[in-house]
Amino acid sequence: PTSDAAPARKVLLAAPRGYCAGVDRAVITVEKALELYGAPVYVRKEIVHNKHVVETLQARGAVFVEETEEVPEGSIVVFSAHGVAPSVHEEAAQRNLRTIDATCPLVTKVHQEARRFADEGYRILLIGHEGHEEVVGTSGEAPEAITIVDGPSHADDVEIAEGEKVVWLSQTTLSVDETIETVDRLRARLPILMDPPSDDICYATQNRQVAVKDIASRCDVLVVVGSGNSSNSVRLVEVGLDAGAAAAYRVDAASELQESWFDGAGTIGVTSGASVPEILVDGVLEWLAARGYGDVEEVHSAEEHLQFALPPELRRDLKAAG
Ligand code: SF4
Repeated sequence: PTSDAAPARKVLLAAPRGYCAGVDRAVITVEKALELYGAPVYVRKEIVHNKHVVETLQARGAVFVEETEEVPEGSIVVFSAHGVAPSVHEEAAQRNLRTIDATCPLVTKVHQEARRFADEGYRILLIGHEGHEEVVGTSGEAPEAITIVDGPSHADDVEIAEGEKVVWLSQTTLSVDETIETVDRLRARLPILMDPPSDDICYATQNRQVAVKDIASRCDVLVVVGSGNSSNSVRLVEVGLDAGAAAAYRVDAASELQESWFDGAGTIGVTSGASVPEILVDGVLEWLAARGYGDVEEVHSAEEHLQFALPPELRRDLKAAG
């Protein structure tokens, strides 16, 4: 071919992508609760950070609220996958609410670590995004003992009392590389900083970042499907750009794609965040196929088989209902 020939058009589809075990469990929890108890089922905060998922459940009778005080006394309320502070459980009990806790077990693990280290007298540096629901929930386990460190640039502001023991924990959906940078900067100032007993950034976040890195350098344009408030989806855009994608865009769905992004593009990468149903990726692939990008190669970088059992309080009622 001559140098001015149009590049071959092709799509590289990252795998794994989309739903993780914690999101799958949280969405099924709300669906089953609607079937079992009937509408309305109240859900505190977005069950997972995805617009399409929230709207679909709303149409089936889920009512999303910001706080438990908006839930009528005695009603059923589901807590989202991101987890809640103990004070939220207490408020719900005071209002006589029936709670179903859809907190991802991998978030619960971080809550347990936070409680244990606080009990042992540690200062906990919680690396995560200030104000994100998961960070608010985890900090609520031990507000006195936890200091939030919102990325590498905040590492230098951390103050530790003389002789204080110190450990770091993190939000589950951060960029792995950026978190290493934050820890390195913290450790440069605090050599006694202890590492957590196991990874807090969850398997799904890590696998989706590895998968996007595997395709990024071959991509003229990378499309990440995911909502703007989805931490792990936003991280995929950053990780993709860092790993060599020439351009990267996040969209909620195909309807947000713009023709101009793809002018002259040969290879397009596609992936999706952990809260994104595959139907939205299918929509993006159809949109691209209609514009000549019908040749799709799926690039696998890991296998995932993890599944979580539904919350025990829901399983009990499902069993009783036969
Ligand atoms: Fe759980 Fe990770 Fe999914 Fe969050 S992204 S719900 S921590 S598996």
